[in-house]
Amino acid sequence: EHADTPLVVAGLRKTYKDGFVAVRGTDFTVHRGQVVGLLGPNGAGKTTSLRMLLGLIRPTAGEILVFGHRVTAGAPVLSRIGSLVEGPGFLPHLTGLDNLRLYWRATGRPADTAGLDEVLDIADLGDAVHRPVRTYSHGMKQRLAIAQAMLGLPELLVLDEPTDGLDPPQIAEMRRVLQRYATDGRSVLVSSHLLAEVEQTCTHVVVMRRGELVASGPVADIIGDSPSVLVSVSDV
Ligand code: ATP
Repeated sequence: EHADTPLVVAGLRKTYKDGFVAVRGTDFTVHRGQVVGLLGPNGAGKTTSLRMLLGLIRPTAGEILVFGHRVTAGAPVLSRIGSLVEGPGFLPHLTGLDNLRLYWRATGRPADTAGLDEVLDIADLGDAVHRPVRTYSHGMKQRLAIAQAMLGLPELLVLDEPTDGLDPPQIAEMRRVLQRYATDGRSVLVSSHLLAEVEQTCTHVVVMRRGELVASGPVADIIGDSPSVLVSVSDV
């Protein structure tokens, strides 16, 4: 059961040490080929949720299944997820391409960077991959970070606010990158606090507010014709 489902989250809850409840029992699923937006204002619990999915912090309660396997710290199934939740530390004097190769080797995977050409194509870095990272704009660095998360073409990509700090053209480019990635049955889970961005980029949306799941489903159903949901996330 769930062996072919990238992500199933059930009753997920996180109480921090100080007693603050950041996530209050959320349930949602990411199916193959979906681009799912985790939408909510600052403090909604998006980052906390993503960190639990990646085995970086331990849930207080609930279950996370990635392709049917329970996520725990260091679980082998985590190798099927590519992620960007913290800014990667690129070496500025090396080219983008060398940074990607270095990262790949550092993760202890085979020398042959599977799918590298396809990743470069999807991330659309062009000739910039041959230039030192110190010459990159913020938008280009962000696309290199996404390319790094895509190395090995993982079946599920998890990204925390990848468009943070980008200008509208860079956001549009990021949208195309994610949509190109989510083909061949690959899926993306991406957090955002911008309703319009999720509406334009995602196929499905999970709306959170103050640690609670407000709504989830296809973007057209949730954002398109459900003003009540929009009112309840009016601080998004
Ligand atoms: P943002 O866009 O600001 O990152 P978010 O939806 O990702 O928002 P989280 O970062 O998950 O929200 O934070 C949810 C709540 O949990 C916030 O109120 C935050 O202050 C609190 N929180 C986060 N980390 C901790 C911690 N280590 N200990 C206590 N409270 C925390």
